[in-house]
Amino acid sequence: MIYFDNAATTAPYKEALETYMTVSEKYFFNTASIHQSGKDASRLLEAARNQILDLMELKTYDLVFTASATESNNIAIQSMLKRKKQFGRTILTSELEHPSIVNVLEEMKNDGFNVKYIDTNEAGTVNLESLKSMLDSDVVFVTVMALNNIIGSVQPIKEIVKMLKDYPKVHFHVDATQAIGKADLDYNGVDTISISAHKFNGVKGIGGLFIRDLATIRPVLYGGGHEYNIRSGTVNLPGITAMAKALRLTLGEAREVNKRLSQFNMKIRESVEGLEFIRLQPKAAPYIVNMSFVGAKGEVVVNALSKRGIAVSTTSACASKLATLNETLLALDNEDNVIEGSIRISMGRSTTEDDVNKLITALKEVYEELGDVLK
Ligand code: PLP
Repeated sequence: MIYFDNAATTAPYKEALETYMTVSEKYFFNTASIHQSGKDASRLLEAARNQILDLMELKTYDLVFTASATESNNIAIQSMLKRKKQFGRTILTSELEHPSIVNVLEEMKNDGFNVKYIDTNEAGTVNLESLKSMLDSDVVFVTVMALNNIIGSVQPIKEIVKMLKDYPKVHFHVDATQAIGKADLDYNGVDTISISAHKFNGVKGIGGLFIRDLATIRPVLYGGGHEYNIRSGTVNLPGITAMAKALRLTLGEAREVNKRLSQFNMKIRESVEGLEFIRLQPKAAPYIVNMSFVGAKGEVVVNALSKRGIAVSTTSACASKLATLNETLLALDNEDNVIEGSIRISMGRSTTEDDVNKLITALKEVYEELGDVLK
C-alpha cells in the first residue's frame, strides 16, 4: 500500500520504536515509586520532559503528558472553563477546528457558555479583523488550531497572541497537533498547547499539553496525582521517551522534508489542474493536497484508489465517520458537491517521487473511470 494518509497518523521512526522497546524492558518501573528503580524511571521522565520543552522552545512552560491530543484539548477546555465561568461566558473559536475541540465546546454550551465562530479568509486562515471585532468583556477563552488537518492552512498564532495581550482575562489555547515539523511557529505567549506523538512519527497513545501557568489548570479526571496532579494515571514512560526521540528527529529533518514535499505538492496539483471536474483547495502546508472529484462521493474515490494500492482519506479520518459536511470546507464556502467529492492526500517523510507518480497515474485513471458521474 502506498501511504498518503499521514495527516491521520504516521509510521513511527525505527529509532522511536527502539527507544520504546528499550525503555519498556529496562525502565518498566512506576515513575511514582520511591525505590531506586522508580527514581531512575522518574529521572528519565524528567529528562524527556525537559528535552521536549527545549525542542519546542517553551522552556518556561510546564508539560503534562496525556494519552492523545484529544485528551489534551479536553483538559485545556474543560478545566479552564470551570474556572472562568465567574468571569465571562463567551468562547471564540475558528470554523476550522478538529472535533476534539468543536464537540467539547458544543458540550460547554450546556454549561451556559456561548460559542462564537471567527470568520475564515479565502486561504483557510482565521480573519484577524473578525476576531478583533468579537473580543469583548464577556470573552474568557479563545481556541484556534495551529495547522488545519483538512487543507493544511497555517494560522496566525503570533498575531493572535499579540492581539490578546490587551485582554488578560482571556485564555488562549492552540491545538498544534498537525503543526509539529510542518510549520515553524512560535508558541510563546499561548496559554496551553496540545500535541500528539503519532502525528510526528512517534508511537500512539502519547500526547502532551504545554501549560504557561500550571496553577490555572485543574484535573478533569481525579486520581493518584501524577503529572502535577493534572493527569493522574501511571505514566507511559516508553511512549514519552519515544515521543522525545521522534520530536528531535522530526524537527531535525523538517526543512529538508518540507522542501521535498513542496515539490511533490506542486507536481500533484499541476497534474490535475486541467481536469474540468477537479477542484483544488488553496495551497497551504506542503504535506497536504485536498481536491474534489465534483459530482462523485469522496468515499468512492478513496475506494477506487485503495483498489489500486493507494491510501488517502475523505476530508479527515475522524470526520469521515460523521454524516455531516466537513466544517473546514464549508467555512471556505465550497458547494455541497465539492465537499462531498473531496479527498485528502497527505504525504510524509517517507513519501517518494515514485509514490507521487503512481498516485498521479491512479488519480487520472479514477477520473476517467468515473466518467459521467462527474459534473
Ligand atoms: N487535533 C487535530 C488538528 C487533529 O488532526 C487530530 C487528529 O486527527 C487531533 C486533534 C486528535 O489527535 P489524537 O489522535 O492524538 O487524539
